[in-house]
Amino acid sequence: MLSLNINMKKNPKLAESSTEKSQTPDEDFPIVGIGASAGGLRKRAEDALQGKTEEQQELSIRDARSLIHELQLHQIELEMQNEELRRAQKELEESRDRYSDLYDFAPVGYFSFDKNGLIIEVNLTGAKKLGVERNFLIKKPFSLFISPGSKDVFYLHLRQVFRTGVRQTCNLKVVDKKGVQLDVQLESLSVQVGNSVHCRTAMSNITESKLAEEVAQEARIYAESIIETVREPLVVLDEDLKVISANHSFYSTFEVTPDETVGNLIYNIGNRQWDIPALRTLLEEILPNKTQFNDYEVSHKFQTIGQKIMLLNARQISQEVIGTPIILLAIEDITERKKLELLHLENERLITAAKARSEFLTIMNHELRTPLTSVIGYSIILEGKTQGELNEKQGFFVDNILKSSKHLLDLINNFLGLAKTEAGKQEMIFEEISVPDAINEIFELIKENAIGHDIILRKEFDPEMLSIQADRMALKQMLFNMLSNAIKFSKKEGGIITVSTKRENDMVKISVADTGIGIKEEDIPRLFQKFEQLDSGISRKYDGTGLGLAITKQLVDMHGGKIWVESKYGEGSNFIFLLPIGGKKIE
Ligand code: ADP
Repeated sequence: MLSLNINMKKNPKLAESSTEKSQTPDEDFPIVGIGASAGGLRKRAEDALQGKTEEQQELSIRDARSLIHELQLHQIELEMQNEELRRAQKELEESRDRYSDLYDFAPVGYFSFDKNGLIIEVNLTGAKKLGVERNFLIKKPFSLFISPGSKDVFYLHLRQVFRTGVRQTCNLKVVDKKGVQLDVQLESLSVQVGNSVHCRTAMSNITESKLAEEVAQEARIYAESIIETVREPLVVLDEDLKVISANHSFYSTFEVTPDETVGNLIYNIGNRQWDIPALRTLLEEILPNKTQFNDYEVSHKFQTIGQKIMLLNARQISQEVIGTPIILLAIEDITERKKLELLHLENERLITAAKARSEFLTIMNHELRTPLTSVIGYSIILEGKTQGELNEKQGFFVDNILKSSKHLLDLINNFLGLAKTEAGKQEMIFEEISVPDAINEIFELIKENAIGHDIILRKEFDPEMLSIQADRMALKQMLFNMLSNAIKFSKKEGGIITVSTKRENDMVKISVADTGIGIKEEDIPRLFQKFEQLDSGISRKYDGTGLGLAITKQLVDMHGGKIWVESKYGEGSNFIFLLPIGGKKIE
């Protein structure tokens, strides 16, 4: 740079135009003036010579010699300076050519626009991108090459550049001479050129990156649509374990919203419900080392949806595919499946138990009932005295054996009956049964017993209510149990038992009301349980096994009906049951 300045000072043209200046004291090279206007110098020298004395002229010759020497030196120096100047000029031209090449062949198009968007300058790349000669573009509006939808974007951009003076960027679509549309990005600055201001713009083709972006977007939509169709909850995490996205199933299963999920650390979702130690171990320790894990079972109690058992599957998707690593976490809620498995196990256990019980019942039936029947049979023979008279004590013992054996047989029969219904082995055969007929039949059976207790039997039948669909044996057993109890728990002085029927919509209501000892309110809840006898102490006054009501309730249930009692202690009880007229509804 320095040498260039010096050379410029020594430029003969510049020197010529500044001849007068050569008189200034800082004139480094007076010879420039001499060399530059040799005629002037000569004249001055001749004038000086005319005014000189002989002696002076004598001296002047010496001076002239030295002057010639000086002149020669300066001439050589001047030639050297000229040489240097030419070299510098060549360098300057080369440098300018280089910059102009750089400008013209830059990978982006460079444009200069005036305030109206007219092209003032453009490099070759810019012209090439638009498919026209550079000269054609000069003074032409750039808008000629902008697609209609983007023109406003360009003018707004231009206005902002001139208004703000700050670098502005915009994306728009240009159309080249052949009609091919390109996505371009303009990056512009305003610059002062002389008295006017220009907008200097670099235009880069972003068609490919736009295309790549569109492809990536399509791929993302495709991937998201796949994730959305997956039934299992899926969540996509970034490398910091923040949720990038989740599918519908995730939101609905865990009752969280996208707003409180996306962008949050997985542990913070839904009131930190996902802060599960096992999950932390997986995501922070196992996954970084293994890149995937399968079917990791986690049991966790969520605040909103309760206890859940889940199988977690995770994959770390490599960087090359997506750019940054992501984690796909699939969650399979196996709570119901686990419950079913447990149920299945329980079922198997019950089947085994039922089998064992069935075997036990068969044995009980045979091994207990057979000898007991013999005991009762022989006791009756003894009591009948056909084999000889019995003394008083023997008679008392035989009577006791008979009573106890009958009680035992009752117990076994009831127990076996209950076991049968409980095991579902008592098959119900639904048929049309006349309710009045069934009640009359049971009345016939218990008539003697009632008379023995001074009890009057009454019937109140609803004339509208005649027959129902029911199991004949079961219906009779229900009535028999109710009526036997009503007699058994009557007062010493006797009483009245009323059996009534009434139609209630599609049900029949049968009630067995007595005027017996009644039941205390607090005892009522225990009544229908097995082996519950309200009078169960040592001083028990009433026979029975405590199974009659439990069996009755089961039979009512098997008909799809309901049973309950209304009672007043000391005044009597009313056992009521409702049965569907049309038989048990299939659920
Ligand atoms: P049990 O074989 O003892 O009669 P149940 O299951 O038929 O067994 O009855 C259970 C208990 O309910 C009876 O022991 C009795 O205390 C009470 N109970 C049943 N029916 C009546 C009734 N009609 N009046 C008073 N108490 C009754």
